[in-house]
Amino acid sequence: MKEYKIAVIPGDGIGVDITREAIKVMTKVSEKYGTKLIFTELKAGGCAIDEFGEPLPKHTLDVCKDSDAVLLGAVGGPKWDNLEGQQRPEKALMGLRGGLGLYANLRPAKVYDVLKGASPLKNEIIDEGVDLLVVRELTGGIYFGDRGRCDDNGIEAAYDTEKYNVSEIKKIAHVAFKSAMKRRKKVTSVDKSNILESSRLWRSVVEEVSKEYPEVELNHLYVDNTAMQLVRKPSQFDVILTSNLFGDILSDEASMVTGSIGMLASSSLREDSFGMYEPIHGSAPDIAGKDLANPLAQILSSAMLFEYSLGMSEAARDIEEAVQNVLDKGYRTGDIFTEGTKKVGTAQMGKLVLDEL
Ligand code: NAD
Repeated sequence: MKEYKIAVIPGDGIGVDITREAIKVMTKVSEKYGTKLIFTELKAGGCAIDEFGEPLPKHTLDVCKDSDAVLLGAVGGPKWDNLEGQQRPEKALMGLRGGLGLYANLRPAKVYDVLKGASPLKNEIIDEGVDLLVVRELTGGIYFGDRGRCDDNGIEAAYDTEKYNVSEIKKIAHVAFKSAMKRRKKVTSVDKSNILESSRLWRSVVEEVSKEYPEVELNHLYVDNTAMQLVRKPSQFDVILTSNLFGDILSDEASMVTGSIGMLASSSLREDSFGMYEPIHGSAPDIAGKDLANPLAQILSSAMLFEYSLGMSEAARDIEEAVQNVLDKGYRTGDIFTEGTKKVGTAQMGKLVLDEL
């Protein structure tokens, strides 16, 4: 029997509630396909500060490095909000991304037919369908570039630098084109090449890489236009490829188009099959431990784990279908509840997905 090592970091708040449900789902699906998952639960974030005095203990990072994939809940909460920068729970996320070399962030944004009402956009826009994937470069660009404070002719000033090299752009472009090959075969590369030199390099490298994927249609958009198009006609997008800074902003905008934060998964990947999978929402301290959290974003993150890290696409489809069926039958957690549907808690929602499997 094939075995995989999965590092599990529930983190803080509802991270604990939703990860519990995802593990049950993963166990059931893996059994169906004759594989064994060996889960190791680890601490990071606020709970690690409480127990070990630091947000990302070395032991946690070491076990993650020795695993096939990482499933992460969420970190943070009001208890740790007043700590110094290096000691804040979010440092664990940066430490994991950097320490594990995760340079590609994939965020699907999909509007389920039965949840159309949750989108803040008009019906006629949403009716055309929204099913896109933002591929964001995660370890380069302005978030990691040269920065500092300086004197600007006697006036205090500060600067940050956007820099990308050819190899960084190539790597992330390949991730986007490969993802598009599994989807509707369209990549929109987003830049600001009318102004920025780094964007001009970005555009030319993406053009070069696209020659290796003749089946994939490539177009380029400026970031300001993309921000408009995402709310004007989101159905035009399949894969959006972009830099760290632009991706940070556009992926949040794309998720807002769906209107349901408790439904959206994400993955952070590197060149081999290793990846870290997490919902896009935070630790929601307001509802933590109350059986109110929607576990579906975490369950859908586990589907991405099967797809990208374990190469088990059929298992991923099973999970996605199970989630779809539960929604079609009218079950909703509080965050996506509407009149006429059936309200359930975290554990019940997890069980409904299990039953569908
Ligand atoms: P949040 O995403 O935790 O919550 C925003 C709102 O959405 C809240 O009302 C919450 O109850 C609701 N919500 C979120 N996920 C939900 C779910 N699965 N089911 C039902 N409702 C859900 O964002 P926030 O309130 O800005 O942040 C809370 C804490 O989480 C902060 O400490 C923040 O730093 C941290 N955070 C962590 C991550 C991460 O770990 N990746 C990301 C964002 C925020």
